[in-house]
Amino acid sequence: MIEKKIFLSERDIPKQWYNLGADLPTPVLPPLGPDGNPITPDMLGAVFPMNLIEQEMSAERWIDIPEEILEILYRWRPAPLRRAVYLEKYLGTPAKIYYKDESVSPAGSHKTNTAVAQAWYNKQFGTKKLTTETGAGQWGSALSFACNLIGLECKVYMVRVSFDQKPLRKAMMATWGGKCIASPSDETKIGRKILKEMPDTPGSLGIAISEAIEEAVSDQTGNTKYSLGSVLNHVMLHQTIIGLEAKKQLEIAGEKKVDVVIGCAGGGSNFAGLSFPFVNDKINGAKIEIIPVEPSACPKMTKGLFSYDFGDCAGMTPLLAMYSLGHGFIPPPIHAGGLRYHGMAPLVSQAILEGLMKPRAYDQVKCYESAIIWAKTEGTICAPETSHAIACTIDEAIKAKEEGKEKTILFNYSGHGLMDLLGYEKFLAGELQSYSLSDEDLKESIEKIKDLPKAEERRTGKW
Ligand SMILES: *Cc1c(COP(=O)(O)O)cnc(C)c1O
Repeated sequence: MIEKKIFLSERDIPKQWYNLGADLPTPVLPPLGPDGNPITPDMLGAVFPMNLIEQEMSAERWIDIPEEILEILYRWRPAPLRRAVYLEKYLGTPAKIYYKDESVSPAGSHKTNTAVAQAWYNKQFGTKKLTTETGAGQWGSALSFACNLIGLECKVYMVRVSFDQKPLRKAMMATWGGKCIASPSDETKIGRKILKEMPDTPGSLGIAISEAIEEAVSDQTGNTKYSLGSVLNHVMLHQTIIGLEAKKQLEIAGEKKVDVVIGCAGGGSNFAGLSFPFVNDKINGAKIEIIPVEPSACPKMTKGLFSYDFGDCAGMTPLLAMYSLGHGFIPPPIHAGGLRYHGMAPLVSQAILEGLMKPRAYDQVKCYESAIIWAKTEGTICAPETSHAIACTIDEAIKAKEEGKEKTILFNYSGHGLMDLLGYEKFLAGELQSYSLSDEDLKESIEKIKDLPKAEERRTGKW
């Protein structure tokens, strides 16, 4: 009999996070300040607590997970590794499909992993309140959950289009004591300015980030800090517990190696969390295909420019070396709100440049078709973001069938879609559009960042 759920005992939970930054053969380029010079830690001090800034810049390969953080994570971690035998059978594939189930966290996605860590380090530092942005509401929910347990106030700027598509997310955040408002809002200078210029804008993560940072830095007491749910090195770090658990669980399942690792990618954190420990294997000689999947409506990895760019719309963040569509890019209002971000994590971007991973883009209609196949075989209803990983997994499983190869595929089931049913309703009614961006729209947005400092494309050529 094939085991469909592979559990790891609490005793065997990973006790350290893995920092890919220590092993990339060509390191990530340093973030730059407004003067074009690399930033110093204290320049980030207005926004983040110093203990997280240290993690952001750390060159250590392994970083201890504080016991108090593990105590909170035990509520749902170690998360199960599951085998999608019902999908395998439906597809008639010889491939073995495993997935890490991050949907079992209280807020419904992987985001709680870093939310707990960030809230805890902020509390240690003396922070009283965290501000943040959220796309589909997953991150805002996760941070509200974590802040409540750890004793911090939490204020969430939620991208307008998602705020309207997923009204119950606000109630979820409120249940944990978080305060959620739609962005752009009239509570910040940048929000008011954008509302005046574009009163009907669907909003973007870039705009919401600007608003949240503005609120944090305008608190003169220094008690308010900002928290980011993806993109930054320390967020990737906190998520590696996913891949580290998965490795142990694959071993328990008797798998000696994995052939393909897949994750959907918005800012890159759930994908990085699952894949980085396997990227380490690849650096050390293993043959693994590693695939981040983005929406074709927001194709920064497959059509963006590798460049220095801002992380937010207003240009308040340092310049990061990453694949980007331009910080002013406002993606079409696809339902996978968590993937509507203009840039890709610098660590993931550098690994792509090195050839350690190969990105793909999928259209939302194909992704919903895959989500429906998943629901009708495996049973669960996935987040629209997660459906991108599933679409790619199905393609890979079909390819394995055509090639007659018994491949082992691992993907990240980043979250459930029980708060995202409006998208399913639209899809089932045939009302969901494909979006393919015109090359002109892309060019226009990318053109705007061409005057920013150039990011050198460094690769060893080994992969
Ligand atoms: C936020 C989110 C994503 C995308 O964010 P990453 O940082 O790229 O992981 C993917 N899936 C779900 C369920 C999310 O909530």
